Amino acid sequence: MLQWRMAERAPPADELADLRAFNAALLAAVPGFVCRTDADRRLVAMTRYAPGYTPANSLGRDVLDFLPPEAHASATAAFDHVQATGEPASYATAGPGDEGPSYYATHVTAVPLPDGRRGLCLCAIDVTEARRRELALRATSDQLAMARELSGLGLWSLDLGAGEVAWDRRMSEIVGAPRPRGLLEYLALVHPDDRAEVIATVERSLAARVWATLAHRIVRPDGEVRWVHTSGAFVVGPRGDVIQLVGGTLDVTDEHLRDERRHQAQTLEAIGGLAAGVAHNFNNMLAVITSVLELVRPELSARSSALVGDAQDAARRAAEMVRQLLTYAGHGMPSARQPRAVAELVTRACALARQTFGTVGALEVELGPELGYVRATPGELEQVVVNLLLNARDAVRGRPSPTVRVVAARSQGADGDDVVELRVIDNGPGVSDEAQARLFEPFFTTKDVGVGTGLGLAFGYAVARDHGGALALTSTSAAGSTFTLTLPLTPDGPAVAAPLERPPARIRGRVVMLVDDEDPIRGVTRLVLEAHGARVYEARSAQEAHDRLAAGLRVDVVLLDRSMPDGPGERAVPRLRAAAPGAAVVLFTGQGVDGEVRAQVDGVVAKPFGSDELVAAIEAATRGGDQA
Ligand code: ADP
Repeated sequence: MLQWRMAERAPPADELADLRAFNAALLAAVPGFVCRTDADRRLVAMTRYAPGYTPANSLGRDVLDFLPPEAHASATAAFDHVQATGEPASYATAGPGDEGPSYYATHVTAVPLPDGRRGLCLCAIDVTEARRRELALRATSDQLAMARELSGLGLWSLDLGAGEVAWDRRMSEIVGAPRPRGLLEYLALVHPDDRAEVIATVERSLAARVWATLAHRIVRPDGEVRWVHTSGAFVVGPRGDVIQLVGGTLDVTDEHLRDERRHQAQTLEAIGGLAAGVAHNFNNMLAVITSVLELVRPELSARSSALVGDAQDAARRAAEMVRQLLTYAGHGMPSARQPRAVAELVTRACALARQTFGTVGALEVELGPELGYVRATPGELEQVVVNLLLNARDAVRGRPSPTVRVVAARSQGADGDDVVELRVIDNGPGVSDEAQARLFEPFFTTKDVGVGTGLGLAFGYAVARDHGGALALTSTSAAGSTFTLTLPLTPDGPAVAAPLERPPARIRGRVVMLVDDEDPIRGVTRLVLEAHGARVYEARSAQEAHDRLAAGLRVDVVLLDRSMPDGPGERAVPRLRAAAPGAAVVLFTGQGVDGEVRAQVDGVVAKPFGSDELVAAIEAATRGGDQA
């Protein structure tokens, strides 16, 4: 190392030569440009020249001439500072380069001049590589931050030694709470039912050093339950032991609910198909049972007649169950919907249910203002509300301060439409997770045999769906449950009430062609029709009926079963009409009939039918005939 101080002595010639050589080497080693200026900032020396610059065209010029205009302000400020204080300063410049922009960091020091003024020494170092790396790194970390933000991932770490948890803002948003001080505080946020599994999974993962998928629920301090998915990794210390867990947590509640709804819809669809098949066969059997019971009853003694009355009641209840099942399966009998005042509908349902509340608990009703009208099938929605109320009543039975509240309010649906939300809120024990998964399945009940049919919620779900609305369990906990029935409102006003009384129907003398492939059904239907004075011809298929009509048989009405081996009854309608132009066609079916089919025929009778409905339908279809 050279140790030479100007003030002490003039350097000998060989030391000077040595010093010059060192200076030259030092300047050559500097990866940039080094130059000196006079006090007026004019270039007096330069170690190397950029292409196109020579000492002849450079020396004596203002140093700013060599800098891009946008760097002038920062360079001038640095020069001013150095010349005023004698202290070093620096500035950064960027300029166009052969392969993209190039960057320089320029360090400026003062050069004391003999006249006491200060010249400048500028050392401009090419920092392009480092700067590009820095920019690329910043771009990558910006992208990562953006991706993280978009993914919604909350980041956390757990120091196993100190037991401390660190996490970011997003984690606090996910769990709805500030950063916990330790693992125990975090575990307190985990749903109690999931806690043991979370602990076991983390322990297993630690033992195997492989992170096992961790999906669990969080109960936010405000009581809201969220589903989260946590991935993690282990940080191993110098001694080979795991010292830290780091990871990310994603709120997957929306996906979870969507999957659950999809799964529920698929289950319900599958069960619906099964139910429709069973219900169809049941209807045919019930049609025989109810008709036979109705026919024989007048001929029986008082005692036997009472027994048959019980059997008729049971058959009616069975028919009602089948009707609910068919509604659930989406094959219900569509009936004309009329605008119904929501307030009236709810009041009626509450009045019906209240009779059964007795001393079980209180029923409180809060109706919001201007609830409006829904288009509803008479009776169906009342039944759904009554079912909800009865379930709530059963849930609060024996609980402290048993109370069921009904709250109806106008609201906005997801697509901005006007809806009414009817909430039935109870302070019962809530619905367990297992029950929640199966709540809307037909025949799912936790009630005693003979008490629950398990059809109430399944029917309510289907009726709500068929009315363009929804029925859902919207909250449940150990403090009670809320079921919410949402229905679209209609701008239409109240329907004009249909006259209730109708004169008894008469079909005496009418000629009926009865088409059904099932012998028992044909048998009892014939008996019913003949008991009312009609003349009946029978056919086992639409083809047989057609052939007889085409051969000249004259009838007033063709009573046509809808499901027969040779195809749906309605398909035969045009040919039957062609064969018997004057005859009416009435379809009888155990399943729903859409508007298109309904338009092709003169009437539809639902199986199992009472004789009144059958006779009324035939009379209506053949009205105008004067055989009576
Ligand atoms: P049912 O009432 O005949 O059992 P539902 O379909 O109406 O049939 O109800 C199915 C099951 O749902 C009930 O057995 C009960 O376990 C559960 N449930 C319905 N409503 C409630 C409620 N408000 N609180 C708790 N559990 C309920």
